[in-house]
Amino acid sequence: MAHADTDLATIPDTVATARRAFDDGRTRPIEWRRRQLDGLLTVLDVGAAELVAALGRDMGKPAPEAHFTDIGTTATDIKHIRKHLAAWMRPRKAKMRMQDRPGKGHILPEPLGVALIIAPWNYPVQLTLGPLAAALAAGNTAVVKPSELVPETSGILARLLREHLDPEAVAVVEGGPEVSTALLDQRFDHIFFTGSTSVGRVVAQAAAKHLTPTVLELGGKSPVIVASDVNLDITAKRLAWGKSLNAGQTCIAPDYVLVDRRHKDALVAGIVAAIEQFYGPDPSTSDDLAKIVNERHAERITKLLADHGGTVACGGAVNPVTRKLAPTVIVDPDPGSALMQEEIFGPVLPILAVDDVDEAVAFINRRPKPLALYVFSNEAHVAEDVAARTSSGGVCVNHVMFHIGPPELPFGGVGDAGHGRYHGQAGFDALSNLKPVYIRPFRPDLSLIYPPYTKLKVKLLTR
Ligand code: NAD
Repeated sequence: MAHADTDLATIPDTVATARRAFDDGRTRPIEWRRRQLDGLLTVLDVGAAELVAALGRDMGKPAPEAHFTDIGTTATDIKHIRKHLAAWMRPRKAKMRMQDRPGKGHILPEPLGVALIIAPWNYPVQLTLGPLAAALAAGNTAVVKPSELVPETSGILARLLREHLDPEAVAVVEGGPEVSTALLDQRFDHIFFTGSTSVGRVVAQAAAKHLTPTVLELGGKSPVIVASDVNLDITAKRLAWGKSLNAGQTCIAPDYVLVDRRHKDALVAGIVAAIEQFYGPDPSTSDDLAKIVNERHAERITKLLADHGGTVACGGAVNPVTRKLAPTVIVDPDPGSALMQEEIFGPVLPILAVDDVDEAVAFINRRPKPLALYVFSNEAHVAEDVAARTSSGGVCVNHVMFHIGPPELPFGGVGDAGHGRYHGQAGFDALSNLKPVYIRPFRPDLSLIYPPYTKLKVKLLTR
C-alpha cells in the first residue's frame, strides 16, 4: 500500500485536534504514556513483516538490515524508555547553596505540547518512531510526517500508527515538501527534524516564526582517521561494512578516510577484499546490498563519480537495472572535488593519505563540524587526543556507527550537523520543559532585601 498525499486543507484541523488532545490533560499520566509506547512496540511487532517487505520494495533494503537497523534497534530503544520513564518523569532534586536555604529546589519535567516530527527516508522506521517515542514519553501529542521517498513504508506506518496509538493525539500526515511546508506554517511547541542540512535551514527559519524549539538531526561528511598502529584487517572490514550498509545511505556512514601514508595501500587492498567477501564479485547484483533510493540520488552519485581526480580501486557505476552501485573505493581524490565537498550518501569511499594524525586533524578542522568522527588506533591516547582537538556530534573509536546504539549515549549533531540530542533520557529531556521550581518557607523573612536601602543593608548586600 503506497502512501497518499494528505490534503493540505486538512492540516490546520489535524494540528488543532492534536492540540485539543494535549490541552485536555490526557497525556500527563504515566499510564497514557506507557500505553502509547506499548502501541509503538505493537506496531513494530505485528507490523514487522509488512514493514520489512515495504523497506525492500522502497529501497531494496535487505531484510536482515531492516530487522537490525529499523525494527530491532527501535524496539530496543522504546523498551529502554518505557523501563526508565517513571524515574525520568519524577521531579529531580537540586541541592541548594547555603544562601538559597532554607529554600528547596527541584526540576520538574513537563511536556511541551504538540510536537512536529519530520523524518527522512533512509531509516524510515527508526527515524520516525524513535523521535515519536521520545515525544510521547515526555507527554506530548504529535504530528508525524514520514518521508515521501519511501511511499510503501510511509503508508504502512501511517495505517499502523492510526490503529495502535491514540488517534487524536498522534496524527500521521503524508507527503513531500509541500506538505512539510504547510505543516511548518502551523504553530507547534517542538519541531524534531531529521534530514539534510539544507532543509534543516528551511525548518529553522520556519521555527523562528513561532519561536519553536527544535532538534535538528542533520547530515554532513563524517571522516575517519586511521592511525599508524591499527589492526588493518579489522579496520578494513569495519569500514567496508559501514560504507555499504544501506548502500552508504546512512547519516553517520564513514564519508571519507584519512589514513597514515605507510598503510594506505594495505588498507585499500583490505577494503576491496572485504567488499568482495561480503557481496561477491559483482556486488551490484547482490541481494545483500540495498538500492540507491531513486533516480535523482543515483544521478547525484554518478556525478560525484565523474570528476574526482582520484583512482578507482573497485566498484564504479550505478547498475541502471537494479539501481545498485557496487561499493566503490576511490584513492587520493582531489580534496577540492565535489566528492570531497558534499556529503556522499552512497557506497563510495574516498581514501586519502596523510603524514600523521596532526595532518588529519587539521584537514577535518578546516571543514564543517561533522556529525560523527571515527578514529582507529590501538593507543587510547591517540583517540583521546583527536576527540579533544576536533568538534563533532559524536566520536566512535575503532568501529563505525556503533555509538548510535547505547541509549545511555545522547545522539545528535553540532554546527552544520544540527543541534539537540535524543536516545534514552536525552530524547525525553529534549522534548520536555525542564522546569525549575524553588520553594521558600515564609520564615525566616529576610528584611535585608527590602527598601529602604540603608547604609548597613547596602554594605551587607554588596559584600
Ligand atoms: P531531506 O532533507 O531531503 O528530507 C527530510 C524530510 O524533509 C522529508 O520528510 C522531506 O519530505 C522533508 N522536506 C524536503 N524538502 C523540504 C522543504 N523544502 N521544506 C520542508 N520539508 C522538506 O533529507 P533526506 O533525503 O530524506 O535524508 C537524507 C539526509 O538526512 C542526509 O543529509 C542525511 O545525512 C540526513 N540524515 C540525518 C540523520 C541524523 O540523525 N542526523 C539521520 C538520517 C538522515
